[in-house]
Amino acid sequence: ALLFGLMCGALASGLCYYLIITRANPRKEILTAIKQNQFYVVYQPVVDAHDLQMRGVEVLMRWHHPGAGEIPPDAFINFAEAQKLIVPLTLHLFDLIRRDAPMLQKRLPPGAKLGINIAPGHLHADSFKDDMRQFAASLPPDHFQLVLEITERDMLNQREATKLFEWLHLEGFEVAVDDFGTGHSALIYLERFTMDYLKIDRGFVSTIGMETVTSPVLDAVLTLARRLNMVTVAEGVETPEQAKWLREHGVNLLQGFWISRPMRLEQLMVWEPDVQLD
Ligand code: C2E
Ligand code: CA
Ligand code: CA
Ligand code: CA
Repeated sequence: ALLFGLMCGALASGLCYYLIITRANPRKEILTAIKQNQFYVVYQPVVDAHDLQMRGVEVLMRWHHPGAGEIPPDAFINFAEAQKLIVPLTLHLFDLIRRDAPMLQKRLPPGAKLGINIAPGHLHADSFKDDMRQFAASLPPDHFQLVLEITERDMLNQREATKLFEWLHLEGFEVAVDDFGTGHSALIYLERFTMDYLKIDRGFVSTIGMETVTSPVLDAVLTLARRLNMVTVAEGVETPEQAKWLREHGVNLLQGFWISRPMRLEQLMVWEPDVQLD
């Protein structure tokens, strides 16, 4: 195991992840990780495009594997889904957030948005509604606005989704379409469902300033989002030029390395935005 760990340190994490699941019992690997507290969370600020002040955070999960080191969430989430462990993993995530909640409450003003990624396997699970209700009830009352981030690819069929989103809204949750622009059926969803936020995928954002034809498409999406009363969030903002373009084009919220990388709670507690736009 030590040798494996050393080898892994030198390899790309994706490859590491592959080695782990092929060599060991993957179910056990995740269940052990939960028990041994190998998962932790980081928070990435989401700021207002105008004053660049923090309006909320997105919660992102991390796995520090004792042998393999950091395993990226893109890898272990799919892995947990495939092993039918996404529900216990998400419940564990809720525990981690609950543990941080008293500090988060000090750091974030009332109404601050707490963005949580929900995997499709959980959305479709029988326990979903109960799980969400219990999680919300376990947080300080009326402090956070919970925003469930669901990728466009994972939307349910129309009737189910309409009912579920209605229920979520009644219970006080908000819903964000994550990774918008990466699915195929894109625009049609916007009209059908009541969703509160549109998170524009960083694939779009990264083309801003480059000589491509993407910006007119992005423009059209933003116009539509406005007409449908959705708040827009740009992901993966890495440069002030991108931030400026997005602000000038009416994007409401910004998130990305230019503002801040995801951070541990201790760092978040002392973080202040130190970027500027003229
Ligand atoms: P996502 O929901 O689209 O999350 C945003 C990802 O973009 C995060 O990667 C974040 O670190 C990264 N990012 C933020 N700003 C920038 C930037 O300026 N430039 C670049 N290049 N990247 C940026 P991360 O944390 O590796 O997460 C990857 C994906 O894994 C997430 O994509 C989400 O789909 C999934 N994920 C993460 N945490 C969880 C979780 O707790 N539950 C579930 N179901 N999925 C999660
Ligand atoms: Ca997300
Ligand atoms: Ca996203
Ligand atoms: Ca993503």
